[in-house]
Amino acid sequence: MPTAIAPTFAEERLLFTPVTPDDGATPVIFAFPNTYSVGITSLGYQVVWATLAQRPDLAVSRLFTDIHEPLPSQPELLGLSLSWELDYVNILTLLESLEIPIWAAERDDSDPIVFGGGPVLTANPEPFAAFFDVVLLGDGEVLLEAFLDAFQESRGCDRPTRLRRLAQVPGVYVPSLYQVTYSAPDGPVATIQPIDSGIPTHLEKQTYRGDHLSTSTVVTPQAAWENIYMVEVVRSCPEMCRFCMASYLTLPFRVAPINSLVAAIEKGLAKTSRLGLLGASITQHPEFADLLDYLNQPQHDDVRLSLASVRTNTVNRQLTETLTRHGSRSVTIAVESGSERLRRIVNKKLETADIIAAAVNAKAGGLSALKLYGMAGIPGEVPEDLEATVAMMQQVKKAAPGLRLTLGCSTFVPKAHTPFQWYGVNPAAEKRLKFLQKQLRSQGIDFRPESYNWSVMQGLIARGDRRLSKFLVQVRDYGDSLGSYKRAFKDLKGQLPPLSFYVHDDWPVDQPLPWDHIGGPLPKGTLLKHREDAIAHFPTL
Ligand code: SF4
Repeated sequence: MPTAIAPTFAEERLLFTPVTPDDGATPVIFAFPNTYSVGITSLGYQVVWATLAQRPDLAVSRLFTDIHEPLPSQPELLGLSLSWELDYVNILTLLESLEIPIWAAERDDSDPIVFGGGPVLTANPEPFAAFFDVVLLGDGEVLLEAFLDAFQESRGCDRPTRLRRLAQVPGVYVPSLYQVTYSAPDGPVATIQPIDSGIPTHLEKQTYRGDHLSTSTVVTPQAAWENIYMVEVVRSCPEMCRFCMASYLTLPFRVAPINSLVAAIEKGLAKTSRLGLLGASITQHPEFADLLDYLNQPQHDDVRLSLASVRTNTVNRQLTETLTRHGSRSVTIAVESGSERLRRIVNKKLETADIIAAAVNAKAGGLSALKLYGMAGIPGEVPEDLEATVAMMQQVKKAAPGLRLTLGCSTFVPKAHTPFQWYGVNPAAEKRLKFLQKQLRSQGIDFRPESYNWSVMQGLIARGDRRLSKFLVQVRDYGDSLGSYKRAFKDLKGQLPPLSFYVHDDWPVDQPLPWDHIGGPLPKGTLLKHREDAIAHFPTL
């Protein structure tokens, strides 16, 4: 069990007022399966915690892997916010430290109801389904209060009754009330059905459609970005790159009105001068230029500004000069590939000329560095496409001499609810990353590949089904290394499909998906249509 370190919590400056819990309030633990510094830098964690702490019928304590607030001896509810797939290991450890069975099926009335949420669980909860009593699918703004109200209404009932009651709330998924069958013990999923007619057959991810987006509820020097105040400027992204879960899973694109953004920023700047603007594509905000004008007023000269990655063709002089004025040295753009054909495959509406213009503007605006993000192993990629990426980086270097260039590169990983969910991780990506490394580093361009092995594990979890939960526990017991993954697959041979099935195989489009019972923003037919649009740009053999 982590230790309680009060001074860390005492350094927090709150932007909301927690209420004093009523007598007899429900004892709740809200946990983040990583350290305090990581957890408190998650805007989602901050916002849910503030929601819980403002309900007088709840008495909430926070728990991280390193520190915690004083914990109730008999919690009735345990929440876990999962932002990163491999943090599941810490979920298991936290459950054990609280003496709660890791398997939902082994919990009884003396155990809390364990609920989880966040993008990892919303996209595909199945590999983790056996650890959770409840998974919240979608936006907290619409889900959380409805879930908590139903939870409170069922207080005093036995566990099965409570879970059945909760399963009636839209977007609240109770995995134990659904049964999965497989075409063979090591074959694909065949069916996913509720255990009886009283349970909804289909679940819908819940979408918040209001225009007040999230803002920090706490500022602390212990955050990963010291004293950062975060403001969500937009939610989702209208670009719809075919691989992108940040766009497809959170559609439609929504923007916070400028007046509410300004009011939120003023509130934050009363506590700190460090401001982070968040969102998948913040420069797509229709009034983004006005927001920059507002930040460029003299009274904001001491504000340090951090931006999430921005759309390449919005990197103009106004943006780069604003960043320079507010203490940033670099800007980050995601270009995916130097090949225009591949960019058409992924639906990245970007010309090489736009990338070069972004570099020129970065330099002219006073920035010293430009970070580009790319990807290897995109469906339809051929070796010549990697050569095009090298050529593009050379062009950028030539156009903006002296600008420090970094190319970060990941491997394509299929994500649920995107048009590329049927494609596997291309094993050739490992070699292609090495090719880029050799070519770019020899020209003095900083190349930072993401671990290929990590992408394989991500792919496994992204397309996993319930058979993986036993596997994941085994991996954890063996030490959570790549060797442990291989050993656990060997041990469970015959009880689940091989690694290549989950990770590398292209799945037939008529094969049932492990998440078929969960509706995302777009129907499968639309995703298939978008996939066809991509295939139209594949090379002809
Ligand atoms: S522009 Fe970025 S955030 Fe938007 S869809 Fe493409 S990859 Fe996703």
